[in-house]
Amino acid sequence: MDYQSAAQAFSEGFNTYVDYVKYSFDNPGFRNPLIYLFLVYIATFLLESLLPKKINYPLVGRKGFWTDLLYVVFIDFVIMVIGLAAVTTTVEFFTKKIFAAAGMTLPLVDLHTLLPSTFVRFLLFFIIIDFTQWFAHYLLHRVNFLWQFHKIHHAQETLGFASTRHFHWGEYLVLKPAAWIPFGLLGFSAAEYVLYYIWIAYFLTFFSHCNVNLKFGFLNYIFITPETHFWHHSRNIPAQYGVNYASSLAIWDLIFRTYYLPKDKEPILGIPDNDVPDTFLGQMGYPFKAVFKMKSSPAQNKDAAYQPQQSRQDRRREQKKKGK
Ligand SMILES: [Zn+2]
Ligand SMILES: [Zn+2]
Repeated sequence: MDYQSAAQAFSEGFNTYVDYVKYSFDNPGFRNPLIYLFLVYIATFLLESLLPKKINYPLVGRKGFWTDLLYVVFIDFVIMVIGLAAVTTTVEFFTKKIFAAAGMTLPLVDLHTLLPSTFVRFLLFFIIIDFTQWFAHYLLHRVNFLWQFHKIHHAQETLGFASTRHFHWGEYLVLKPAAWIPFGLLGFSAAEYVLYYIWIAYFLTFFSHCNVNLKFGFLNYIFITPETHFWHHSRNIPAQYGVNYASSLAIWDLIFRTYYLPKDKEPILGIPDNDVPDTFLGQMGYPFKAVFKMKSSPAQNKDAAYQPQQSRQDRRREQKKKGK
């Protein structure tokens, strides 16, 4: 649809999503992502309750459990509902304007014509967005400014199913709408992007944060599992900027050599020199304060990105052990 103004695009995006939520609850079913997300919450909670633990801390009594639940409500029912669709539609509006100014019209290639099957299109969307997320996640770890926001997710010292939503809202309201742009070139509207994204957003991430002691064997090389994702949250790793960035498919980490799954040690969760506050509000304000500090005293900022000392020490310790 062509909108007259950014404000109109924003409000139409918002209304489309509100209509979609109403439709979902009037027509409940497994095929409906907004119904299926409640099943994901319940299923992953039960998995964590019933299966042996990967790391020994209580399910509900662990540090951060209630904060994580607050994040689930905030991200899934405030940010996703009032924000994602509306902001993505606004990005669509501006992108079309910029392309029009350059004498081009979107889409450049329409996958709806090339691939008439919805299933095949969804599959391709899944593969492309999984790579886009891998790359965006890599940048979140590599670019110091972005790391100040992403650090909120990594400051967690315990993980559980709900930890997957423990993010700064900026990641959802800036990066996810911006990630629509390559899909816009391929003929996906903002509304279609948001709908597909919601399906994928719940596919594995709640599961990959579950504190369960399961061995996945070869599946670790196909999908992201708690085994591989706990290493992403770990500080005893031999890499300065982190490992296992993928959201669903392990292939990106295997291709770009960021895959890490040691057999002879256990992950220690968290980040070195953690200065992220424990409270939700403190965490919302943290990146802005950190970025302000970056500007005023860049020298202090050297260690702010994924900090290498701990892992180097660990490596030295390991080398010593092997030497013995
Ligand atoms: Zn990360
Ligand atoms: Zn995570």
